[in-house]
Amino acid sequence: MNPLVSTMYFAPQLIHGAGSVKNLGIACRTVQATSLFVLLSERTKNSLADALSSTGVPLHYFTDFQSEPTTLHLQHALGEFKKSQADGILAIGGGSALDLAKALSVLAANSGLAFCDIPQHNSLKKIPLIAVPTTAGTGSEVTKVAVITDTKKNRKLNPGHPALIPNIVVLDPELTVSMSPKVTAETGLDALAHAIEAFVSNLASPISDSFALEAIRLIGRSIRTAYHEPGNLKVRDDMLRGSLFAGLAFSNSSTNLAHATARPLGTRFQLPHGLSVALLHPYVISFGKDAACERYEEIAKALGVDNVLAFINELNEEFQLKEAIKHIDWEQFITQIPLLVEDALSGNGIKTNRKIPTTEDITGIYQKLLTDFTGG
Ligand SMILES: [Zn+2]
Repeated sequence: MNPLVSTMYFAPQLIHGAGSVKNLGIACRTVQATSLFVLLSERTKNSLADALSSTGVPLHYFTDFQSEPTTLHLQHALGEFKKSQADGILAIGGGSALDLAKALSVLAANSGLAFCDIPQHNSLKKIPLIAVPTTAGTGSEVTKVAVITDTKKNRKLNPGHPALIPNIVVLDPELTVSMSPKVTAETGLDALAHAIEAFVSNLASPISDSFALEAIRLIGRSIRTAYHEPGNLKVRDDMLRGSLFAGLAFSNSSTNLAHATARPLGTRFQLPHGLSVALLHPYVISFGKDAACERYEEIAKALGVDNVLAFINELNEEFQLKEAIKHIDWEQFITQIPLLVEDALSGNGIKTNRKIPTTEDITGIYQKLLTDFTGG
């Protein structure tokens, strides 16, 4: 395609504002669902009982999945969905619930389709999907990718297709106030990485840039307060909109090396997605900043700081990320570096990185992480 031309994909309908989860009934009627298959955690199910009953249709709950969903969870969900005979899907939760629901909405409508083959098809049917994020976040509610771990290959798959975008997004900041400071920090840093990576991506366009810069502004001004004052609805709303804009930015450009290197780290060492991205992001900035000086200057301006790398390092320190990876067996990590590098190179986010990394560059990034965390 002509490099001056870009194509954007958006969710068709967005309902935003404090208390907007009470509009689930309207969303349900809009997609003409007469029965909903609902993916959420047990805790969310209990805390949103009133909003859920306001849908006015039969609800079939599916709570049997964990963070970082796998192809086994997906197969199970697909079987339960068929049994339920529901004609709509509702997902309430973090990126895991939303990604699982997105994959389900496409696979359930296209029998025999394999998850990894989704990008091979031009047009795909889907079961109508309503997405309600409770973290800020993955931006999964508006992105055209779904991340699912392939249990056979022990690798994260993240196929992209416009059919994976939910039909309706309900964006209610009140649902995010119960996030712990740890989850607030890790998901917030992930969202910030989405925006920064989208902005320095080789696939960035003037429109994805606008979303990325607004996301950087919103997250930059509110992430610390959200961490220290969980009940502050104003900053929660900033973070939720920031996460949404970051999702729109990277879904329509790409994430890059921080995500490419984080995916295998998260899978092989059982780290949450946001944490693994946040840990590697400073090394990736350090590696690539000279190739995108002007872009990093614009990011610094949007953050209101002089030095983007120093700002990210300060956040990682303030949010005590080191504490969260104390359990890593670093001896094992050393032996796994070649596999981590191989996995990173096999996924996306390499060629779209402003400075395209070599095998040695990626090895160097993992080695820097090792040195910083072990001191040797
Ligand atoms: Zn991410």
